Amino acid sequence: MPDVIVIGGGIIGATTAWQLAERGAEVLLLERGHLASGATRRSQGLLLEPEVDPMQPLFAESNRLYDHLAERAGLELALDREPIGTLFLATSEAQLERLAENVPADGRLLDRDAVLEAEPGLAPTVSGGLLLPGGRRTDPAALTAAAAEMARRSGAEIRCHVDVKRVSPGAAVTDGGFERAGTIVLAAGAWSRRLAHTAGHELLIRPVRGWLAVTAPVPPLLRHIVYEAGYALARGPQPGDPVLMSDLADGDVAVFGTRSATAMTAHQNADGSIMVGATRAPALREGDESAGALRDTAARVCQLLPAMASVEVETTWNGLRPFTPDELPYIGHLEDGLAVCAGHSSDGILAGAGSGRLVAEMVLGTEPFTDPAPFSPSRSHADGD
Ligand SMILES: Cc1cc2nc3c(=O)[nH]c(=O)nc-3n(C[C@H](O)[C@H](O)[C@H](O)COP(=O)(O)OP(=O)(O)OC[C@H]3O[C@@H](n4cnc5c(N)ncnc54)[C@H](O)[C@@H]3O)c2cc1C
Repeated sequence: MPDVIVIGGGIIGATTAWQLAERGAEVLLLERGHLASGATRRSQGLLLEPEVDPMQPLFAESNRLYDHLAERAGLELALDREPIGTLFLATSEAQLERLAENVPADGRLLDRDAVLEAEPGLAPTVSGGLLLPGGRRTDPAALTAAAAEMARRSGAEIRCHVDVKRVSPGAAVTDGGFERAGTIVLAAGAWSRRLAHTAGHELLIRPVRGWLAVTAPVPPLLRHIVYEAGYALARGPQPGDPVLMSDLADGDVAVFGTRSATAMTAHQNADGSIMVGATRAPALREGDESAGALRDTAARVCQLLPAMASVEVETTWNGLRPFTPDELPYIGHLEDGLAVCAGHSSDGILAGAGSGRLVAEMVLGTEPFTDPAPFSPSRSHADGD
């Protein structure tokens, strides 16, 4: 019998298995599809400075662990060695004023001309921006596969195409039979809530859909990661909020999905392809939904980066972010024999490996490298749903 069963083979499950196995635990990871088949592979994969303080230690530790992974696995192309910088773009004077209120010590507030000098491809209609030195690009699916391989090398078993139906402390029912372990760790991203219900726990993790478009390789167009400062919100249920039966009964939601909040995010990969997002909409089902958000994003990109209008779109995809009401993950025990590491909202890559280390230390009862209090799963009950 393994010491720990980890459910989910995204960035969180794979790094959790790695961190547990490296500390001497016997680990079995169960994934219903293939590794990184959920949000992880569909993300933009950026390691951006987190917006809130509690995430800082997870971010710093994740950076360190990913560097280690890239070095061990020879994955130079899966992770920027050095940050390429992030430009938060103000598209209105009001946005620029808000950016000016909170300029970090290492940040530089830019007027319109300075923004156009930093990113000559942008339309001259922009108002200004904030340039930060941080921001690294990753290939999150490759990092996940590398973390799983590191887990295997430390003795873990990684079993894909096994769907977990129910969990209880120390036990899981799967489509392959019954599994037992000292502790079960739920790392099933946006699907963790349903699994937690089977053990009698309510974990407020709601799926928030995001669309991305990826272009064919083009000559250099973007130097930094460019983020529009602030999402334009849409009518109806907001990302992370519940969708009510009355929302479903109303208008187009049941047929077309909820409306998306949108903001332009764009970066160019080392291979020349450009990734463009981002949208946020409460999701009601898997598969394509709220696809109008993709059109809105494309329109926004053509407006802000005019040269993009004539660039070939190679593929588009969408994924489900595991959103919590405060956008912080749940990391820790739900009860003896059952723990969780899920709900990373928009930050699962940038905080992934650090989260894996933290839950591994909590499960093994060793000193955690950072205070786990902000991530306590008991917050879920305090939210009152
Ligand atoms: C468009 C988009 C852009 C994003 N950009 C960024 C970014 O730039 N930076 C960043 O930090 N984050 C970003 N994110 C968020 C990030 O992708 C997620 O927070 C992160 O991937 C969550 O990882 P996870 O391992 O918890 O979930 P997932 O990657 O979804 O993994 C969960 C796994 O559990 C498996 N599973 C589910 N149910 C079961 C079951 N019953 N039995 C067995 N296995 C099961 C699934 O198949 C899946 O593989 C983005 C997300 C999206 C959608």
